[in-house]
Formats: sequence, C-alpha cells, structure tokens
Amino acid sequence: MSPWRDHLIPPGDVLGDHAEVPSLSYLLEAFVPWQAERWPQLKASRAALADVEQRPLQVGSRSIMVQFNPGRTVNSTAKVDAASIQRRRCFLCADHLPPEEMGLPFGPDLVILANPFPILGMHLVIAHRMHRPQDAGVALDGLLDLAGATEGTLTVIYNGPRSGASAPDHLHLQAVASGILPEEVHALAALARGRVPGELLFELEDLKVWSDASSGRWIVGFVGSRETVGGAARVVIEALDQGDPEGAAEAAEPPLNLVATAGRPGEVVLLLFPRGAHRPACYFADEPHRRVVSPGAIDMAGVVVTVRQEDYARLRPEDLVEIFAEVSRPEASALIRDVLVRRLTDV
Ligand SMILES: [Zn+2]
Repeated sequence: MSPWRDHLIPPGDVLGDHAEVPSLSYLLEAFVPWQAERWPQLKASRAALADVEQRPLQVGSRSIMVQFNPGRTVNSTAKVDAASIQRRRCFLCADHLPPEEMGLPFGPDLVILANPFPILGMHLVIAHRMHRPQDAGVALDGLLDLAGATEGTLTVIYNGPRSGASAPDHLHLQAVASGILPEEVHALAALARGRVPGELLFELEDLKVWSDASSGRWIVGFVGSRETVGGAARVVIEALDQGDPEGAAEAAEPPLNLVATAGRPGEVVLLLFPRGAHRPACYFADEPHRRVVSPGAIDMAGVVVTVRQEDYARLRPEDLVEIFAEVSRPEASALIRDVLVRRLTDV
C-alpha cells in the first residue's frame, strides 16, 4: 500500500461544493487556507508571516527585498552534510508527515504540499513520492509542467543539493505566487517588451536563451515551448557540470537554482542561476561580522531572507554585492553559447 494513501486529499474535498476543479491555480489558492484550518503548525506559521518585516535595498540596477523571517531559522541553518542528513528523519517522506499534513497529487510522481515554513503567503512544497535525492535532470520535468499548468499564477523553484535545498536527499520543488521575485519580474517585463533581459546567446524558432550578469548574479534565461526550454536547459546543465571547478565525485550535478513560470500562452520562462559557494563567507564569520544568510533560489531571485534581527538591520547594499559575488558562479557565456550551438543546431 502506498505510504501516501493517508496523505492525499481529493480536490473536491478542498473545494467543497465544486464538483469540478475550475483550474489548478484555483484549487491551489483554496488548498493552502484549507490545510491551515486543519494543521495548527501551518496556521501558526501563516499567522507569523504578518510579523515578517521587509525592506527594499537598491543594489546596482536592481531592487532587492530583504526579509526578516525568524520562522525560517530551521531552513537557513540546516546542516546538509551527508552525516547530518543520514541522522535525521526525512520530513518529506509520507511515513514521517504529521497526520494533519495532506497533499494534492500532481502527475504520477509528485505531491503538492503546503510549506510549513513559508517565506511568502502562497508557498508550496512539491515532493516526489519516493525518497530519492535532489536531481535537476529529473526535477526539470515537474518544474516546467507545474509552471505551465499554473498559467503564470505560480513560480516554481528548484534548489540543488549544494545550493540551498534543506532536504538534499528527497527530490522536491517549491512554488510561490508569481510576480513577487524581483529577477522574475525584471525578466518578464523585458520579454513583454519583446526583448530578452540580457545578451542573446542562442535562438531557434521557438526558443531564446540569454545570459545576464547585470544583477551581480549570473543568470542563464530561457523562453519558449515547454519542450525546447527543457531540452536546452538540460544541455546547459550538462555543460556547467563539465566546467564545474568543484565538481565533487559524488555530486550528480553542478550547483544551481532554477526558477520557472508560464510566459505567454504555450510558453515557459526559466531562469537558471549557476552557483558558486553554497553559503557566503559572512555565514561562517565570527561576530560581529557574522550574517546568517544562506541563499537558495528565492534569495538568488531577489528576496533575501534573514533569520536574525541584527542581520536584517545591518545588511547593506555592499554586503549583498559581496554575498552574491561569492555564491554566484562567474559568467561563462561563451561556454554556454558554444555548447548550445554544437548540440542544438543542425550543422
Ligand atoms: Zn524522504
């Protein structure tokens, strides 16, 4: 018997009177408050979001939102080394979920759950039904499918095992409301004006790939059909892996974060953040120089989460420049362009 049997909820139960689900977006919008009414931990963490503080910081040409969110302490300070992971009970396995935690199936392999440690009001975790490690190659399909299926209402993200995932041993995605992450907003605004937000690296009839380092983070962006974006992203991830200076033998992929949403009808937009260090030097510094900032996809996309009041108060634009420089990989656009041309062009 599937361990998920006791943790799956039929959509009709979430929607009450509605016999039919009008759209996945509608269902998910109803799901989080439904779950909060039945799961005290989620209700409390959602209520605590009202006390989360945010302030914008101008960093070069970009506005970054710095957030003070003590509810994220467990995530920001998670020990993700192999020994620590082995010792703890996996919080994404069905057998270990609290009895109140329920999910909605998405495709044959994934279950959509409410994130009990939200950064934003709409914050989901999408877990694979099996306990298997984070793997961008596998996660990419669910990421793009869910981004497409939610029609621009949700932004779906992936944190690599060395780039912010607090459960590197259990394949999962997250999703937040679209239109909040500054780098996504920046990219969508440029695309709406018919431009790519950076240097165009490669183009096919229904695909554009660009590179942008103007935010102090190196971003490889993709827009096009679900299939072309997925195919090109796999080629780029493979190329980054071969050029990975720290490619440890046991690591299955280069360090990266992914952020995807639906663009115009039939299109998906994917932002890939190739990563350098998992955590910046200030994370490990002695007081008073320590800053507990542990960037994942949400931080890389412009909402930087702090879990201590003093870090929130002290972070300056120049600190963010330094943090981004340490946790981003230096731009290598020529490498990406060459590989895309070689692999995706008939010559
Ligand atoms: Zn697990």
